[in-house]
Amino acid sequence: MAIDLSEAARDRGIKYFLISYTDLFGAQRAKLVPAAAIGDMQKAGAGFAGFATWLDMSPSDSDLFAKPDPDSLIQLPWKPEVGWLAADLWMDGKEVEQAPRNLLKRLIARSGHQMKSGIEPEMFLVNADGTQISDPSDTAEKPCYDQQALMRRYDVITEICDAMIQLGWGPYQNDHEDANGQFEMNWNYGPALQTADQHAFYKFMAKSIAEKHGLRATFMPKPFLNLTGSGCHAHVSLWDGGKNLFADPNGELGVSELGYHFIGGLMHNTDAICALTNPTVNSYKRINAPRTTSGATWAPNSITYTGNNRTHMIRIPDAGRFEFRLGDGAANPYLLQAAILAAGLDGVENKRDPGKRLDINMYTDGHTVTDCKKLPLNLLDAIRAFESSPATRTMFGEEFVTAYAKLKNQEWNNYTRHLTQWERDNTLDC
Ligand code: GLU
Ligand code: MG
Ligand code: MG
Repeated sequence: MAIDLSEAARDRGIKYFLISYTDLFGAQRAKLVPAAAIGDMQKAGAGFAGFATWLDMSPSDSDLFAKPDPDSLIQLPWKPEVGWLAADLWMDGKEVEQAPRNLLKRLIARSGHQMKSGIEPEMFLVNADGTQISDPSDTAEKPCYDQQALMRRYDVITEICDAMIQLGWGPYQNDHEDANGQFEMNWNYGPALQTADQHAFYKFMAKSIAEKHGLRATFMPKPFLNLTGSGCHAHVSLWDGGKNLFADPNGELGVSELGYHFIGGLMHNTDAICALTNPTVNSYKRINAPRTTSGATWAPNSITYTGNNRTHMIRIPDAGRFEFRLGDGAANPYLLQAAILAAGLDGVENKRDPGKRLDINMYTDGHTVTDCKKLPLNLLDAIRAFESSPATRTMFGEEFVTAYAKLKNQEWNNYTRHLTQWERDNTLDC
């Protein structure tokens, strides 16, 4: 039985609910609803004008209803009188096919197994106007795990971590990452939908708490060209009840045949899903990037897998799971999980072979491997692969592919209407 939100409001002292959904660009949109009105909203949903929802609707479309999922309720640790709720979207009595959370739920229902996922969203703490990192003393050339710089951000990091402890997410470590001003916080893995909801909420929480401290948390994939970018790695396994289907003590590196098929599916479909895992123009400045001042980007530049080696797209650090290192900070939390699940299941269903693993440093020795596939070089290539691959329609459905491709093409066209200083510098006198 789903919890009654009016009762929850009374029991927990919630005065307002944020009924929130994530649009196709990954932005969260919401209505703030007083507790007295939540009973009706739980049944009928909160109304939104379809055209304004960034889900590819037209001005003549009717209202869209965001029905809150009571299981997703999170009381804001920094403002407990507000309860956040992830919503599923409905229009004219039908689920909106292209809504990211709806899509993920549909894929989960179809999968027959349970995908579990643990994510590692990296972020920069920058000043309020976003122009530079917020700590002028954070200047080390190789700042990874920098203790002094980490402790200078103790107040904001621990406020977020305390919140995760309070919410029962099981946070277990926080660190300074490989770029000046960059941090990562890790919490326990869980079922894909739960992780996607937590991912959405985490971004909201990190931004809100950073703002309280006069800072700005950004998940932009490559905010500073000479520094490592922000990835959002996912550690993935597939379960049948209590059994991890990726674990096999006799398999290579402790991964089962089914696990390798799943990896094969991800590699086979990388081009087709890259516009979801790496959804912005800026995303492509993180992957394929030259090494940074610290000596590595730690982001993939090829469609390859390996053992415990961070220079590839897929790393198998341990038995029974793998790390998918492609996704970045701009990835829509729901579409990231949906892309991994759909591509992986395609691999399982079609018994896709990932080939032999590569145990080389891809940054220095990648050129020695002539037959490995490279990642899309820019967003347009990724959109084209997404649109033209027959697999995307099978995996995600016609409505989603059409809507997503349309909005992303608009974004690309908008980008091409901007002239850069580099172009002027290099072409003015041509
Ligand atoms: N920041 C790197 C990336 O863009 C990842 C660093 C790490 O391995 O944690 O993916
Ligand atoms: Mg990291
Ligand atoms: Mg990682």
